[in-house]
Amino acid sequence: MTLTLDRKRNRNPVKTQRIEQRYALQLRKVAQQVGSIVQPFTPGDMSQVPTIEHLLNAYSDMLKGWATQTASNMLMDVALRDEAAWQTMAKELSRGLREEIRNAPTGRVMQALLAEQVTLIQSIPLEASQRVHRLTLAGIEDSTRFQEIQKAILETESVTASRATLIARTETARTASVLTQARAESIGCTHAIWHTSHDGAVRKSHREMDGKVFALDKPPRLSDGTETFPGQIFNCRCWMEPIIDG
Ligand SMILES: [Zn+2]
Repeated sequence: MTLTLDRKRNRNPVKTQRIEQRYALQLRKVAQQVGSIVQPFTPGDMSQVPTIEHLLNAYSDMLKGWATQTASNMLMDVALRDEAAWQTMAKELSRGLREEIRNAPTGRVMQALLAEQVTLIQSIPLEASQRVHRLTLAGIEDSTRFQEIQKAILETESVTASRATLIARTETARTASVLTQARAESIGCTHAIWHTSHDGAVRKSHREMDGKVFALDKPPRLSDGTETFPGQIFNCRCWMEPIIDG
């Protein structure tokens, strides 16, 4: 028996779109702050770079509490969705199994996910800092590219915002996938079916996996050489359908 809520439409039963949007909105606030830190400085002036780096590093340190809170909210929201999806999917299962699903030990997985989220959020200003440093240096080494590089430095906020959006998208899907997997393994599932989001943006190597069964103990190796579970690599919206009873 497999667990699918919405088999006809073949959609991910763990609905995280709203959660992802909210998380992205929050993380883009970090990008805005990064933009306002960098903005007063003269792009391309190496003498100002240590100050920019200092400010962005300090901002990253300061972010820890906020990042923990923001990431916890995202994780809790996804965990609730995951549990609700399992409860709906598991309607046909025995009461004992439903009880096991509810009591799945997801605490350790949640702790690990939270720590990873905090590191990622704190990395947003740090990456921006490294980027400004790198670009400024490149502008000094090659004066013919100075204007182009100045322009790139002025784009710090939008580049950072794109990264924030990518993190939110990737991490919300990854959280859902990791939690589904943890719950599946806790009730003895050993295999699951790979599903894609069935739209034009699916990677070829993921499309090839659509409908295929894979083992949960090791991420499958895809045709492009990557090893990943569905939904657990950047920009992936694939999801897994755990198989119960072999
Ligand atoms: Zn995918």
